[in-house]
Amino acid sequence: MKPTAPNPNYDFRRCKYCGSFAAQPLYRLARQTIYRCSQCDFHALDRLDPIVPRSGHDEEKPLDERSRQYMERRMQDVDPLLPLRLQLVREQRPLAGARLLDIGAGTGQFMQRMSEEGVQARGLEPSDLRRQFAHLKFGLELEAETVETFGTQQEHQNAFDLVTLWDVIEHVNFPVETLEGARHCLKPGGYLFIDTPSRDALSYRLSEGAYRLSGGKVTLFLDSFYEPVPYGHKQIFRPQQLVDLVEKVGFRVIRQDSGFLPPGNWLQSLLRPRNRIVLICQRPAA
Ligand SMILES: [Zn+2]
Repeated sequence: MKPTAPNPNYDFRRCKYCGSFAAQPLYRLARQTIYRCSQCDFHALDRLDPIVPRSGHDEEKPLDERSRQYMERRMQDVDPLLPLRLQLVREQRPLAGARLLDIGAGTGQFMQRMSEEGVQARGLEPSDLRRQFAHLKFGLELEAETVETFGTQQEHQNAFDLVTLWDVIEHVNFPVETLEGARHCLKPGGYLFIDTPSRDALSYRLSEGAYRLSGGKVTLFLDSFYEPVPYGHKQIFRPQQLVDLVEKVGFRVIRQDSGFLPPGNWLQSLLRPRNRIVLICQRPAA
């Protein structure tokens, strides 16, 4: 199945957060531009990924050794987070028998870990190489569909107890539609988990300052916050922007955190980098 180009005529002056035609170029990087909306201060990249309409293996490139090794390394980066994320979910409800939808399941390691706990897990993943890797490594069958279309099918609506967006909302083409899809899939009373980089991170603010002071010559970490690669980062939220958005879409935020580091003494909590946004949300029971 050949991916189709997404909205080739998408006008990036239209803010992906509030919908106003109020976004203008703010930071020009080597291969891309970050737009800022003057209405809501949202920052987003002028880049969208092709969308695969449904699962299929016919025209996929086979997984080569280099890609396999790359994904093994990426898996090791995420491994330390697995027990922390698992604990966050377990604090909300018993795992055994729960139905999970892992959006942007990547290499499948969270799904695999949850399956070992008796969770019935399904995963959506647009990258064919990651789907192949998850199949080879764990025998998982991830689906290529996006949650926007998955969530419109009646058998998936109100069907899941848990939906996870681990390191995903910054990657998707349209975050509002992704969150709406997640809400459709959740049962009333079900939980949504989000983990994403924060625009309040010191490294982001330093990069903005360096850009301004150098007249755009020094971009510091902006090129790693926004990635000009397929399925790379396209938007970085401020914590309050993400909280407001999930509430607008119909969730209740039951916990907000700025990272996964375990809380220490007052000095540690003062020095602790606020570089992530971690949200636990609930779809209110009917
Ligand atoms: Zn806006």
